[in-house]
Amino acid sequence: MIFQILLSMESKTFRALVLGGTGEVGRELVKQLITHPAFTRVTVLGRRAFDEIQSDKLVFKQVDFDKLHEFEEAFTDTEVAYCCLGTTRGKAGKDGFIKVDRDYVLTSAEILKKAGCSHFHLVTSHGANKDSMFLYQKIKGEAEEGVAALNFDRVSIYRPGLLLCERRERRLLEGVAQTLAKGFDWRNRMSVPVETVAKAMVTNTLCPPERPSENNAPLKEIITHDDILRLGI
Ligand code: NDP
Repeated sequence: MIFQILLSMESKTFRALVLGGTGEVGRELVKQLITHPAFTRVTVLGRRAFDEIQSDKLVFKQVDFDKLHEFEEAFTDTEVAYCCLGTTRGKAGKDGFIKVDRDYVLTSAEILKKAGCSHFHLVTSHGANKDSMFLYQKIKGEAEEGVAALNFDRVSIYRPGLLLCERRERRLLEGVAQTLAKGFDWRNRMSVPVETVAKAMVTNTLCPPERPSENNAPLKEIITHDDILRLGI
């Protein structure tokens, strides 16, 4: 039985869409998707031109995130979508952070649901909680709750700890945290390379859910930091 499931998953192919594909997690995810035979097309939606990854499978579409409904066509024909959008309060201010990390995520998810996408993956963060008194965790939790309420066939929410990467933009505090993590967190209890997060997302797409829902009800799965480490090996 397990062998049959594996065989059927192996032969299934997907047209994928990535939001935030120009960021650290998103770029790594795009690289992994285009090299995997299960993904026949990878569409990246972004606010700026993106030409650093070349592949026949890759389609880039530039959209205005403040007017996403005017770009609904760009979201169509998608079976599986990945959202790695995000900014920081330092970069975008409080309102800008809320807009990107919650509102853009939810508007994109609504459009994808309407367009027939069945599996939506969202990267939030360890500690995401809509009832938190801290803005970052609260907004991440609200994004999770809003996406889950849309009833995709399957929603996969990833909650990584500190991301390890060679970040292109300078973020002082994150840089210090990364240096400490590279020195002391060698078992990745609190930090995780972006390559591992991306691999976990790809692996999880191709595997049947570990805890399937009953009676084909919409499935929401939370993939914790530890789950990411296990799936992303
Ligand atoms: P990045 O900051 O590297 O990338 C963010 C993406 O969002 C980019 O594609 C960026 O596009 C896009 N984006 C940002 N602002 C806007 C905007 N105003 N309009 C349109 N697109 C925008 O993110 P990471 O890969 O580092 O993180 C991925 C997710 O993981 C985020 O949600 C983050 O909050 C979360 N996370 C981060 C942790 C960390 O340690 N840093 C820890 C745990 C979770 P562009 O390239 O055009 O700027």
